[in-house]
Amino acid sequence: DENKLKKFFIGSIDQGTTSTRFIIFDGTGDPIAQHQIEFNQMYPQSGWHEHDPKEIVTSVEQCIEKATELFIDQGHDISDIKAVGITNQRETTVVWDTNTGEPLHNAIAWPDTRTKGLVRELKSRDGADALHDICGLPLSTYPSSVKLIWLLKNVDAVRDAYDEGRLSFGTVDTWLLFKLNGGKERDIHVTDATNASRTMFMNLYTVQYDDKLLDFFQLDRSKINLPKIVPSSSPDAFGSLTTGSLKGIRIAGCLGDQSAALVGQQGFSPGSAKNTYGTGCFLLYNVGEKPVISNHGLLATVAYDFGGKRKPVYALEGSIAVAGSGVKFLMNNLGFITHSHKISDLAASVDDNGGCVFVTAFSGLFAPYWIDDAKGTIFGITQHTERGHIARATLEATCFQTKAILDAMELDSGHKLAELAVDGGMSNSNLCMQTQANIIGIPVDRPAMRETTSLGAAIAAGFAVGIWKEFDELKEINQKDRMIFEPNISKEEGAKMFKKWGRAVEMCRGWLA
Ligand code: ADP
Repeated sequence: DENKLKKFFIGSIDQGTTSTRFIIFDGTGDPIAQHQIEFNQMYPQSGWHEHDPKEIVTSVEQCIEKATELFIDQGHDISDIKAVGITNQRETTVVWDTNTGEPLHNAIAWPDTRTKGLVRELKSRDGADALHDICGLPLSTYPSSVKLIWLLKNVDAVRDAYDEGRLSFGTVDTWLLFKLNGGKERDIHVTDATNASRTMFMNLYTVQYDDKLLDFFQLDRSKINLPKIVPSSSPDAFGSLTTGSLKGIRIAGCLGDQSAALVGQQGFSPGSAKNTYGTGCFLLYNVGEKPVISNHGLLATVAYDFGGKRKPVYALEGSIAVAGSGVKFLMNNLGFITHSHKISDLAASVDDNGGCVFVTAFSGLFAPYWIDDAKGTIFGITQHTERGHIARATLEATCFQTKAILDAMELDSGHKLAELAVDGGMSNSNLCMQTQANIIGIPVDRPAMRETTSLGAAIAAGFAVGIWKEFDELKEINQKDRMIFEPNISKEEGAKMFKKWGRAVEMCRGWLA
């Protein structure tokens, strides 16, 4: 019952693209204490995007300490924290020396496009066409595999480690689990099925590495230490924290960030979907216990795998590379605003986009288009164009791509979505969410507590340690004060806007490098 659940707590590490958070939730899903740190984004060359793996770990440790202090200040007891969950930015690739535990390069972050040329080469290799049906992902700059191959081809230290059989590879979950467990002192080298499904090395049906995939990338398994793939919710696979105030507490849940958001929004039944507007924007649609391979530019991925008697559940995913990062671009590069939240006011300073369409293809276009060489392009500028119009066009770009993704999902699944659950930083903008409802013509449903990604990781951990046993027990969680945005323009108006967007996308294809 509710009073009992108020006395159990679960910690959640949320290691995102631009910031790290640690949130302590109680058993009713209420956040009790939290801390967030932004960390360094490195752009060594145009199209390159890196993170320092050590800074990522330090930011996690600092967030845990600060949030725990706040938790204790409120009179709570650490011994009531029953488990910790991890959720993380996906695809971002880390390599380290198995013998020393030291990184061999900066992490290559998921939006990085340095692999553009490599991807062209890989696409022409024999067997390239067969990959999609095994792993659910198209060859693009996005998955970890191409990032790892780039490192092997271009960084001597990585190549040498591989040749000498001491190369460890991991996504951010794997790296964090390794380090939080004390590194090589307690050698935990695992990844959960959702993160593994983003590498392009995993067979979606077996939920294990597939030799056909590894052979295609010419990876010799005896030379590289790949993390063991385990369920997302497990009492013993992830080890426990070895230092800091929460030392000894088990890590019991691990989910890629978008999977965690789906779990946090309780998208447990086939046909439910959520859209998370963070740095990028990611729509996940639960398709049940069998993968659906998309014919319309979507990704097939593991949604979550709660282990034990439960089978892995799959999703169709629409990934948009630029969402909140478009807002940050207007702030940091163009100086339009001083804080992200001011974008709504700027956009509201004009009535509409004034004819502007902004294809925010800063790192090519992802779903459902997959145009690696597209470049960001603003169409329709006139003497009359103001910053407000461009602000609107920036928000609309994500909304249009969401519409294109929903159309593709309808074609792949034969099912029309009735309502879209949303979260993430950019979903704070009412104007953006109203625009979204208008463009897709269905209601947009936003929870009051928007840390659903963190909540999802806490749920995975809570299941592993028995705080909850059935999904049904979660149904009260995060239901208070949800806000529904109903479409308020006609279907024709929406369709007209979307048609213009489609034309703009076609026009930004193949721009000269
Ligand atoms: P991530 O987990 O990918 O780091 P978040 O979910 O924390 O992302 O969202 C951060 C993004 O949301 C930033 O790019 C920021 O510009 C954008 N953002 C935050 N608040 C707002 C707002 N009120 N309106 C529009 N965009 C916002």
